[in-house]
Amino acid sequence: MSAADCIFCKIVSREIPSLRVFEDAHSLAFLDIGPLSSGHTLLIPKQHHTDILDIPQDVFSSLTSNLPQLARTLMKVTGATGMNVLQNTGKSAGQAVFHLHIHLIPRTEGDRLGYRWNTGNYGEGEAQSLQSEIIQQLDAG
Ligand code: 5GP
Ligand code: ZN
Repeated sequence: MSAADCIFCKIVSREIPSLRVFEDAHSLAFLDIGPLSSGHTLLIPKQHHTDILDIPQDVFSSLTSNLPQLARTLMKVTGATGMNVLQNTGKSAGQAVFHLHIHLIPRTEGDRLGYRWNTGNYGEGEAQSLQSEIIQQLDAG
């Protein structure tokens, strides 16, 4: 999807309305239209970047520098006692809007959301060989 058809670019340009809660030169946060909980907020870069694979490191750093303060404020305002911070990259991971966004989802004890993914386990030696491969790839840049 190009930036021209992107719903979040249209939110940045105010072509589509949103309930903004924070913005600076490079980042914007607004309330999610389909909240998982009260105060569910999306934090996005103003520039169009598709996902975590596509965003330059400095843009991501500047974006996430706002995250702790935003999370604290959302918790204070909603009375939440916890926060899920979630970023979906790719359709297989549930991404529906292809302009990078970080979900901030305020949580309270016993709320209706739950949080349980099916855990797995590694076969003999599998984790160790993955570990070396990841380290090698990271070293190779
Ligand atoms: P994803 O599944 O891509 O991680 O999440 C997309 C999120 O964007 C969803 O939680 C959805 O409710 C939210 N969303 C989609 N369209 C709009 C919109 O036009 N305005 C707002 N405020 N949120 C939107
Ligand atoms: Zn966009």
